[in-house]
Amino acid sequence: MKRSQTSSTVDRSLIGQEVILCGWVNSRRDHGGLIFIDLRDREGLVQAVFNPETDADLHAQAHGLRNEFVVCLRGTVRPRPEGTENPRIASGEVEVAVLEMEILNACAPLPFEITEDKEVGEDVRLAYRYLDLRRPRMRNNIITRSRIFQACREVLYELGFVDVETPILTKSTPEGARDYLVPSRLNPGLFYALPQSPQLFKQLLMVSGLERYFQVAKCFRDEDLRRDRQPEFTQLDLEMSFIDEDDIFSVSEQVMARMFQAARGFVPELPFPRMSYEEAVRRFGSDKPDLRFGMEIIDLSQLSAVTNFQVFKSAVAADRVILGLGVKGGAELSLKELDELIEFAKTSGLKGLVWVKVAGADFQSPVRKHLGDEFLRGCAERLGCSEGDLMLLVAEQPRSGRLFLGQLRIKMIERMRLEPRQEFSLVWITDFPMFHYNDEEQRWDSEHHPFTAPREEDIPLLESDPGKVRSRAYDLVINGNEIGSGSIRIHQRALQERIFKILGLNPEDIESKFGFLLKAFSFGAPPHGGAAYGLDRLTALLTGSGSIREVIPFPKTQKAYCPLTSAPSEVSSRQLEELNLTITE
Ligand code: ASP
Repeated sequence: MKRSQTSSTVDRSLIGQEVILCGWVNSRRDHGGLIFIDLRDREGLVQAVFNPETDADLHAQAHGLRNEFVVCLRGTVRPRPEGTENPRIASGEVEVAVLEMEILNACAPLPFEITEDKEVGEDVRLAYRYLDLRRPRMRNNIITRSRIFQACREVLYELGFVDVETPILTKSTPEGARDYLVPSRLNPGLFYALPQSPQLFKQLLMVSGLERYFQVAKCFRDEDLRRDRQPEFTQLDLEMSFIDEDDIFSVSEQVMARMFQAARGFVPELPFPRMSYEEAVRRFGSDKPDLRFGMEIIDLSQLSAVTNFQVFKSAVAADRVILGLGVKGGAELSLKELDELIEFAKTSGLKGLVWVKVAGADFQSPVRKHLGDEFLRGCAERLGCSEGDLMLLVAEQPRSGRLFLGQLRIKMIERMRLEPRQEFSLVWITDFPMFHYNDEEQRWDSEHHPFTAPREEDIPLLESDPGKVRSRAYDLVINGNEIGSGSIRIHQRALQERIFKILGLNPEDIESKFGFLLKAFSFGAPPHGGAAYGLDRLTALLTGSGSIREVIPFPKTQKAYCPLTSAPSEVSSRQLEELNLTITE
């Protein structure tokens, strides 16, 4: 017997016809002599019925079926008896009266049920990932992932991009993480690095005159997996020549639109709004603001004139600012929760945090008296707070105060389960600083990466005031997640060398690490720029998954371990010898 069709095509139009279906036994029910099975394939379920009166042997065979057996069934499509239809599945109006069955394979006792609702530990799920992926939600995640990838490839081909593979065995590309290294057998003592991104190769492809490149690229970063990260992940990587920021945004917006359409059936409003880094930090205390919510950080320094609270008064006199955040409904927070917020402020290096509950026409706060009525009314008005709301106030250096309140804002949005204004908010963040100071190493580091161009008008400040230089880097932020980033690049050798010097690289380092790039720049490199988008995180957002592990077919655990294959694992002493490696305890 050979499959004639799949489950989603079995409906009323086939009544009276014979079909041959293949799939897994999703469930089996015995009902007064009749045996029902739900047969599952990639597309869904079909109900099959075995009647002892039609064929006693076949019925006995069906009796032996267990969940997840693989079967092939021949039978006749007929309407389900009235009142037993199932509107939730595509084939819910009909069933298949089975005439013949072949059991293609049995199934050992399952480590967990393949049903939606049972919570199963992640280690078990990953060890039996092939079973985990049989669950409809997981299967749909993987299928949606494929649709998203298809959509982005299609648009980019239409827009004249060339899909190019870049090497996996390569030289380190600095994206700020540790490299995965691969020892070279043929070059004893030497190592390849797995790419943290195809950054340098895509720039070389621009030098080679390709003009529009893209790749769905695997990238490798050996980071501590504290947050929702994976050692290997997938980026949509692209690069273009003779363009500026507007071109990158326009191409990227078309790609995003098509991916949203493929995954969700709608397109977010185009073009996406843009916001400078400075504005994002000022208003939302973050370079990845979640704009589904309001809750802006407000400067209340002017009100210091009308308070007797010395802490605030002297802060403003010393060039610090009073900043406030209003939390809708936040007056319900307990004293314990408020103490935790104060503790959080202190561990974040702040001097303190003042809370004020708006209660009727009055206010509650440990420093209520010192703050005074006029000050409090002024705060409530500016923060838009009324009965039942909470005001959180700090007096700090503007930047650290805003970044702290930005974190508090996210905490409060989660704590209060605030309703988002829309399902998705997409925003470009632009004009990032070029460098940030690395206190530990006492040097300037790139905010994006060393190949990012500075803004033309800030070039004179490069050596004299690096902290003031703005770059031509941009991020795409969706719902408070950095989904992608990119920049217009440096394409002139001299400027690139200047940047390397500011980053503290000496001439030997520059030559050994990036000599090949600098050399390429001296052979007619065109102006170029690009971006890369994290497809795992985007797929997680578009499928409403809480973690990227839910949309990566075979992810690793927080310890970068694969419970399915037991990787990483030991190797034989012979392999080590061949690689000229010894393991020390
Ligand atoms: N290579 C960068 C990254 O992986 C993206 C880019 O600048 O195009 O973040």
